[in-house]
Amino acid sequence: MALQQELGLSYVFISHDLSVVRHMADDLVVMYLGRAVEQGPARAIFDQARHPYTQALLSAIPLPDPKRQRQRRKIILSGDLPSPLRPPPGCAFSSRCPQRMPRCSEQRPDWSAFPDGTSMRCWLAEGQTADSGAGIR
Ligand code: SF4
Repeated sequence: MALQQELGLSYVFISHDLSVVRHMADDLVVMYLGRAVEQGPARAIFDQARHPYTQALLSAIPLPDPKRQRQRRKIILSGDLPSPLRPPPGCAFSSRCPQRMPRCSEQRPDWSAFPDGTSMRCWLAEGQTADSGAGIR
């Protein structure tokens, strides 16, 4: 962090361990099968993850408080990880998403943006967005 500020550096840190990412990143891009599904300020995403895949990842982070750990709801994803070479049609997460709807496996959602600076690709965003079309393609 000191080098980043002194030298004006930016760097990309790639990890499956979001508990480490939480302490490293200012901005976060969550990817599934090689596609970005949620992005924005790391603090905002850790405070209120909206995409079902991000929510599942965050629910897998162990909490340092045993009481809270026992009480929390862990999201267990069913099914196997599809091949990135042949992702499911529509939303790539549709074969494992606990909140999937019929349209999820037919149409790929576009980016929807939220007032906290985050955005995600998910049909659940409909009706709760301030903007659309933001994000990484
Ligand atoms: S678009 Fe559908 S399948 Fe994809 S993450 Fe959202 S709810 Fe789940």
